[in-house]
Amino acid sequence: MPTSGPLVDPFGRVHTDLRISVTDRCNLRCVYCMPEEGIGWVPHSQILTFEEIERVASIAKRLGVDSVRLTGGEPLVRAGVVDLIAKLNRIGFADLSMTTNGTTLARLAPALAAAGLKRVNVSCDSLKPERFAQIRRRGNLETVLGAMDAAEHAGLVPVKVNAVVIAGLNDDEILDLAGFARDSGRVVRFIEFMPLDADEAWERSKVVTGEEILSRINRVWPLEPSSERASDPAPADRYRFSDGRGEIGVITSVSRAFCGSCNRLRLTADGAIRNCLFANDEHPVRDLLRSGGSDDDIAMLLRSAVWAKRAGHGINDPSFLRPARSMSKIGG
Ligand code: SAM
Repeated sequence: MPTSGPLVDPFGRVHTDLRISVTDRCNLRCVYCMPEEGIGWVPHSQILTFEEIERVASIAKRLGVDSVRLTGGEPLVRAGVVDLIAKLNRIGFADLSMTTNGTTLARLAPALAAAGLKRVNVSCDSLKPERFAQIRRRGNLETVLGAMDAAEHAGLVPVKVNAVVIAGLNDDEILDLAGFARDSGRVVRFIEFMPLDADEAWERSKVVTGEEILSRINRVWPLEPSSERASDPAPADRYRFSDGRGEIGVITSVSRAFCGSCNRLRLTADGAIRNCLFANDEHPVRDLLRSGGSDDDIAMLLRSAVWAKRAGHGINDPSFLRPARSMSKIGG
C-alpha cells in the first residue's frame, strides 16, 4: 500500500470524493430505505462530533479529496448542521454539496449557502401528491418542490433531483419526471432501486433498469449522451435532450455497475470508513479519534480502507451478501 501520494486502491482508482453521513436519523420513512417504525438510532455518544468530522475531512483533504457531500439519514435534522458546513468550507474543498429530502430545506437554504454549501441534490420520487406521500410515508410534495425553488433562490445550484424508480410503484412517472427536468431545467437523476432497504423488500423484478428508463424517455424526447459524461466520475450517466431542453441522468448501480470509475469513500455518522455502499467490512476511525490517534494514524486508516476496496460491488455475483447496514445507516 502506498504511504504517500493520493488515496489510491489496488486497481489504480484515485479517491477524491468523500461522502459524510452526519446522522443516521431521518424525519421520513421512504419505503425503499427505512421501515415505518424507524430503526434503532445510534446513541448520540457514538455519533461523531462536528470537530471529529472536521478532523477526518481535513486529513482526507491532505490526501487529495477535493469534493465532499453531506448525507444521512437526513443531514438537515442534525442540530447545528450549518456550523458543520462552515467548518468544512474553511477546509477549502472544490465542491461541497448535500443530499437532502428537502423537508426543511426551504427554511435553511439561505444559511446553508452563506456557510459555504455550494449545491444540493433533493430527493423526489413522484410528482403526484398522494403517491409521494405513499412512498415517503411522511412529508408532502409541495414542501419539497418549494424547497427546490428556495435552494435555487439561495444560489445552491445546480439543484439536482434524485428519483428512485421502483417497478409497479412509480415507474409510470418516468415521463412525467423527464418532463419536469425539461420544464424546470433541473437534472433529474433516475436511480435504480438497490438492495439496501431496511425492510428487505428489494427484489430484482422491482428494479427498472437505466436502459429501460432511457428507452422510455427516448421514444418521446430523443436523448444524446451529455459531453460532460466521459470526464465526470459522478455515478450518473448523463444525457441531454436532443432539442436542447435540459438533461437527465441514470444511476445504474444494479444493472450496469460503474465501479471502474469509482472515486468515492464514505464516513458513516458513527465513525466508520466504508469503501463501497455494498461493502461488508468497515474501518472504524472513531476509536482512533477518541484514543489520541495522530493525524498520520488517521491518514493510514483512510489509505488502508481505500486499499482494501474490491474491484466491484458484486451485487450480481451469486455470492453477494447484503451489507448489514441499510442505506440510512450508511449514508447514500
Ligand atoms: N435523507 C436524504 C435524502 O432523502 O436524500 C439523504 C440520504 S438518502 C439515504 C440518499 C439517497 O439515497 C436518496 O436520494 C435516496 O433516494 C437514495 N436511496 C435510499 N435508499 C435507496 C435504495 N434502496 N435504492 C436506491 N436509492 C436509495
